[in-house]
Amino acid sequence: MIIFGTRVRRETIGVKPFYCPTCHTDGACTHEEAKRWFTLFFIPIFPMDKVGEMVTCHACGTQYHPDVLAKFAEKRKNDDKPKRHEPPLED
Ligand SMILES: [Zn+2]
Repeated sequence: MIIFGTRVRRETIGVKPFYCPTCHTDGACTHEEAKRWFTLFFIPIFPMDKVGEMVTCHACGTQYHPDVLAKFAEKRKNDDKPKRHEPPLED
C-alpha cells in the first residue's frame, strides 16, 4: 500500500529590516513562504504550489502579509528625505 498526500511547509526567504505597526519597533522580521508539498509515506518529495507568504516581527511575533515590507520601504524613503534647514537660534 502506498500512502501519499500533501503537507504545507514553511520556508524562510530571508530576514529583513522592518518597522512593526503593532509594537512600533524598528527591527527585523522573518519573511517566509508556505508551499504545499507532495508527500510519500509522510516524507515531502517535491513542492506543488505556493500557499502564501508571511512576515513575522522578531520583537512581538505578530504575522503580516508581505505588503508591510513595501510600506516599510516607503516609510524609509520618506525618512531619508533631507530635513528643511532651520536657522540656528540666536540668544
Ligand atoms: Zn512587533
